Amino acid sequence: MFRIAVALDVGGTKLAAAVIGDDGTMLSRRQIPTPARESAETLGDAVLRVLADAIADAGRQPDAVGIGSAGPIDPAGGTVSPINIPAWRGFPIVDLVRRALPGRAVRLAGDGHCMALGEYWRGHSTSRALLGMVVSTGVGGGFVLDGEIQAGPTGNAGHIGHMVIDPRGPDCPCGGRGCVEMFASGPSILRWAHAQGWCGPDGTDTRGLADCARAGDPIARRAFDRAADAIALAVLCASALADLDDVVIGGGVATGAHDLLFGRIRDEVLRLAGPAFIRRVRIDRSGLGADAGLFGAAALALAATGSPCAA
Ligand SMILES: [Zn+2]
Repeated sequence: MFRIAVALDVGGTKLAAAVIGDDGTMLSRRQIPTPARESAETLGDAVLRVLADAIADAGRQPDAVGIGSAGPIDPAGGTVSPINIPAWRGFPIVDLVRRALPGRAVRLAGDGHCMALGEYWRGHSTSRALLGMVVSTGVGGGFVLDGEIQAGPTGNAGHIGHMVIDPRGPDCPCGGRGCVEMFASGPSILRWAHAQGWCGPDGTDTRGLADCARAGDPIARRAFDRAADAIALAVLCASALADLDDVVIGGGVATGAHDLLFGRIRDEVLRLAGPAFIRRVRIDRSGLGADAGLFGAAALALAATGSPCAA
């Protein structure tokens, strides 16, 4: 191990930090709930605390810092405005971290980008074209082509959750209509099931709905089929565009209902795809789970130090 990075994963429900070496070893990991309804300063203090605790546990100062955050983000300006963290609008997270850990490279990317890069580094490093997808409260993603994150001019490439797959579909909070997220996110799956007359116990989440689907409830089953079909269309179009080797899908919904989703996603891609280069795409569950984003943020930071890690 030559160099180490501290990685930060900023989400609407949790803040995670880990110290990771350029050989892919995770030396420490800390996680706290995101005080998402608190002030910008309280949130900033929580970020610094989780970083400091992870560094103290590792017993070594990091050479670089990588931040993956829920979006929107502005990588050039070093600011984040996560939809689920109302107090942070244009919040200068890179400056905050730089002041706490001076003299180190600090890199910021979207959480979907970090997830894709983490999967590439730690699981699919032979993939020349990889799409990472996070299917959770929302649907996000990122592309890694020839080992490089494809961020695009505004840093937002890979927003697969907002690809329109049904022009007559439901309105999306993003301002679009018929986006993948309106079919495949956890809240969208639940909303559709309720609209069809499904009446699970109060407060049932997608895990509860998945249990009903496994028990044979036809509406619950159709809700997951509908989500799988939406994901399959997105994968199909992305594969046609980018000649993908691999699609790796993680996130709470995809992980918790993998038995209901993945078979159908693969079948739908094969049913609809014509060209052999599209049909060859491999579709797998995330092997890293919730840590994929941390590994990706670390890879991004280590690359900035010139470390010879896979990223
Ligand atoms: Zn949308």
